[in-house]
Amino acid sequence: MSTSWAGGTDAIIERMEQMTSLFVEETRKSMYKGASATHCEECGEEIPESRRLAIPCKYCLACQTKLEKSSK
Ligand SMILES: [Zn+2]
Repeated sequence: MSTSWAGGTDAIIERMEQMTSLFVEETRKSMYKGASATHCEECGEEIPESRRLAIPCKYCLACQTKLEKSSK
């Protein structure tokens, strides 16, 4: 009886998840082009793998924070 409704909800959730992952993907792409650097382009500090995997990044956390603040 309620299978069509349940199916519809699943479809909506699935679409939302797709949109969310697409949005995350686009955000990542717009932030940096290409793959993460293994070392910070600013200070040469090695970027932790966990950070590189989380977002494609060129800078260590300290330099990233500094650059974001100075760009505003
Ligand atoms: Zn750095």
